[in-house]
Amino acid sequence: MRGRFAPSPTGPLHFGSLVTALASFLEARRYGGEWLLRIEDVDVPRGTPGAADAILRALERHGLHWDGPVWYQSQRRDGHEAALERLSRAGLAYPCTCSRRELAAHSTHARDGSPIYPGHCRDGIRQPDRPAAIRLRVADTPLAFQDALRGPFKQDLEREVGDFVIRRADGLFAYQLAVVVDDAAQGITQIVRGGDLLDSTPRQIYLQTLLGLPTPTYAHLPVAVDRHGHKLGKQTGAAPLDLDRPGLALMAALRFLGQDPPLELSGEPPATILAWARAHWRLERVPAIPARRWPPNARVDPCRVD
Ligand code: GLU
Ligand code: ZN
Repeated sequence: MRGRFAPSPTGPLHFGSLVTALASFLEARRYGGEWLLRIEDVDVPRGTPGAADAILRALERHGLHWDGPVWYQSQRRDGHEAALERLSRAGLAYPCTCSRRELAAHSTHARDGSPIYPGHCRDGIRQPDRPAAIRLRVADTPLAFQDALRGPFKQDLEREVGDFVIRRADGLFAYQLAVVVDDAAQGITQIVRGGDLLDSTPRQIYLQTLLGLPTPTYAHLPVAVDRHGHKLGKQTGAAPLDLDRPGLALMAALRFLGQDPPLELSGEPPATILAWARAHWRLERVPAIPARRWPPNARVDPCRVD
């Protein structure tokens, strides 16, 4: 059994990302499995250099020690390249020169608001002078899988997503391809992550099938939101974790995850809290909902700007 935490280094660890780190850690460790760490820095502009190191420091402060060396997705280009080549050789990938604006104007839109690719370049590009993204041809058969928390989930890739980008026009590999190749390369068997990625999972399973890679199990956690329903994160001004009080954040994260840690644990060091959590962790106690407001009865508005 092998789990992982795969943060994008866009900023310091905050409560929402601690929840994901902790749940994936406990689900792996509870059964004696390994827990690996991968920094997903393919897609990150070179503007946030210290962010990855800050994440590593914060994880260690919270007692979340990973196995083996840290993987950096930016160093995995060869693996991503090989996968792309395999898909191209199979006739499944094609260049697309449509601009964002053209797509917005000519597409219907998915539930999350992103345009569903109308297939303009399926049979050849129209503007060979433009840099081309690479898209993957999708099939029109519905893809179904069982999420360990949220239950059965089904998506018709053709109708609900469309041919999707696997390498961007700027040459960077897209998240969907990179995550699938790297999860397989690291031998990940169970993925526990934020519920905002549930919608991406059928794309990833489809890629695994085409590339002959095993499909891990998936569990999608509720996303921590403020009282306006906004995901806690950099954008909403969620405070970075206080590294001087790691126990406090761990206790809150356990409560968020429905685990009900005993009050006497408050004030204990991370190792003590995590020892309890490992012994008592039950994935099925995590609320199987898309989003959970946190803190539950906040008197302070986290969106307030003073
Ligand atoms: N890097 C992604 C993020 O930070 C998570 C990827 C994943 O868990 O599949 O949102
Ligand atoms: Zn196109």
